[in-house]
Amino acid sequence: MEPILKLSNVSYSYHTPDGETKALADISFTLMPGEFTAVVGPSGCGKSTLLSLIAGLMQPEAGNMSLGGIPLTENSSKIGYMLQHDHLFEWRTVYRNVILGAEIRGKVTPQIRARAEQLLEQYGLERFARSRPSELSGGMRQRAALIRTLLLDPELLLLDEPFSALDYQTRLTVSDDIGQIIRRSGKTALLVTHDLSEAVSLSDRVIVLSKRPASIVRIVPVRFSLEKDTPLNRRNAPEFKTYFNEIWKELNHDE
Ligand code: ADP
Repeated sequence: MEPILKLSNVSYSYHTPDGETKALADISFTLMPGEFTAVVGPSGCGKSTLLSLIAGLMQPEAGNMSLGGIPLTENSSKIGYMLQHDHLFEWRTVYRNVILGAEIRGKVTPQIRARAEQLLEQYGLERFARSRPSELSGGMRQRAALIRTLLLDPELLLLDEPFSALDYQTRLTVSDDIGQIIRRSGKTALLVTHDLSEAVSLSDRVIVLSKRPASIVRIVPVRFSLEKDTPLNRRNAPEFKTYFNEIWKELNHDE
């Protein structure tokens, strides 16, 4: 099987009037189809920069990136991006928020409308299709944001701290819910988080980054022998603590 995403020796620096900030140094990794990978690292090390490069919002200063074997040189319609804030617009109904991405790309076909309705039904939001985002709970809002991203059928999902605006309790249930939806969709996902528990509970592998400029310290494969492998069940499994401690140690290596 060929990787979906391939990064080879990618580096990036920000240039401002105050000087240069080196953010990423020589980053190489691949993502296989259907794999869920988390990226963790100290605050300010370059995690969001990495996602912005993959999303095509910025160009690397060195190195190569390819998606499905094709060089990634600009914003690709094959990539879906989910951020910390759900960016649902209050002046639009939930349904019209969900089709917004398709609308911007001029792709609102009868098929897209039918798929939007099907996804809203599948994920229990059909009753809220005509509601405003403020009528939804935090978890339902994240579901709506995810449906909007999935509607465009991306090959790769980028998730930048998608749960960090939620309170701790909500965050556990929403990450469990969203994690399972992504698994069922079979999409390849790359999650950036500062929360090690979230990384271990959701992913197949955790990429540990060093302090800025970020380089890869280690890639830790995460495997659970659970009958029902869900994020919440993982949190209660004996292996959870082992993985958490292993990654924690890597993160605090320099200190
Ligand atoms: P993280 O997501 O790991 O917290 P970021 O990727 O946001 O880190 O930032 C990495 C480093 O690059 C930080 O030191 C940050 O201050 C710097 N940085 C981020 N964006 C910019 C920018 N637009 N201009 C200059 N420096 C930036």
